[in-house]
Amino acid sequence: MAKKTICAMCGREESGYVKMVTIIPGLNLCSDCIEAIDEARDEALAEKSGDAPLEEKHTIPTPVEIKEFLDNYVIGQDNAKKYLSVAVYNHYKRLEDIRQRAAASGDVAPKKRGSKKKDAGDDGVEVEKSNIIMVGPTGTGKTLLVRSIARLLDVPFTIVDATVLTEAGYVGEDIESLLTRLLQACDYDVKKAEKGIVFIDEIDKIARKSDNPSITRDVSGEGVQQGLLKLLEGSTVLVPPNGGRKHPEQKMIPVDTTNILFICGGAFEGIERRIAARLNTRVVGYGKDEVAKKHQRENLMRYVTPQDLKTFGLIPEIVGRLPVLTSLEPLDRDALRRILTEPKNAIVRQYVKLFAMDGTELTFSDEALDAIVDKAVEYKLGARGLRSIVETVMVDAMFELPTTKPKTFEVTAQYVNDQLEKARFGELTAK
Ligand code: ADP
Repeated sequence: MAKKTICAMCGREESGYVKMVTIIPGLNLCSDCIEAIDEARDEALAEKSGDAPLEEKHTIPTPVEIKEFLDNYVIGQDNAKKYLSVAVYNHYKRLEDIRQRAAASGDVAPKKRGSKKKDAGDDGVEVEKSNIIMVGPTGTGKTLLVRSIARLLDVPFTIVDATVLTEAGYVGEDIESLLTRLLQACDYDVKKAEKGIVFIDEIDKIARKSDNPSITRDVSGEGVQQGLLKLLEGSTVLVPPNGGRKHPEQKMIPVDTTNILFICGGAFEGIERRIAARLNTRVVGYGKDEVAKKHQRENLMRYVTPQDLKTFGLIPEIVGRLPVLTSLEPLDRDALRRILTEPKNAIVRQYVKLFAMDGTELTFSDEALDAIVDKAVEYKLGARGLRSIVETVMVDAMFELPTTKPKTFEVTAQYVNDQLEKARFGELTAK
């Protein structure tokens, strides 16, 4: 009888569910244990580097390195990547500057190792933080960019949604609850949270609805913006430890937001019209139509200015506190096609991995990928829709292949179209 392969760590036998890897002849580990070892090693390394000051760790990635890292996950959007990389890099430098100032003034113990750099504490120059706002159509990679950055960071980081916020006294969450998640991200270590990064998504949803702020009380608009302003400006706010609304009997945690970097994102739907109007009114004399047409063809979003954000309904003080303004491009066919296969955890790669776990080599023909992109374009689903299309195409195969276990499975354009038709994909998305 053939000897069963057994995992040297957990003792399980090789089976359809338990995959074995031979480390050296005679020593086998199952894939779960290998993963556990990898995780333990990563954690140990992270802990080891945890306490050292940033400069000593030599781990502050340069803006070019940050951008290269982002390129692994996000297709295109070079402009936004560049702005984000610089802002995050500067955030780290600012924190280092603050640390050095504190050391120079004797507030904290000076560094163990001497720094060759001149201490910033005595030059009187204080680097101010530059919060960022990213404007771009939904589903073009704003959240993905920020999530990818988070993979790289060793400061607490959180993503929050502006739509849940309302003014104090109304149904919804208090503005300060934005920071609850940040606190949770670092186990309520307030000092750490005060150096963190917060991504506020859907900031456009708290834009003032009417141009005249005093006519009605605008629960989800100006009041919330005023509250948010306090956070952006830098002040000590009282944060409810469990989020939501503040209760009088609840013990609040004071958090100083001066050094927290805020990154905001929003689709600002319809802002192109304002940009177009502004650009057209500036163009005088002959050739006006030519210029107008040219702008329409190009992505108008790239011409967005702080003024446009104000016209859209953000109060000038908020706009002033978000000095770095960058835009994201709409994704064209080519970008969608690349998104399917190129990013490190591209959708296609994920399915290939899933099938490989059952011993089936999955491939997509070029025409199949084109067909998937065609559908995303046809139904205006953008990058988000790619996943639901692939999911619909693959559901039968995912259901059957673990039983039939073929060695290979090729997804062809014909298969894509047949599966989508069978699932009545068009009708489902037309709603
Ligand atoms: P947004 O925040 O701009 O609304 P997301 O970042 O949440 O959009 O994008 C939704 C999904 O679409 C992402 O999770 C990702 O799978 C895909 N996606 C969008 N834009 C890109 C891009 N530029 N590169 C790679 N994938 C993208």
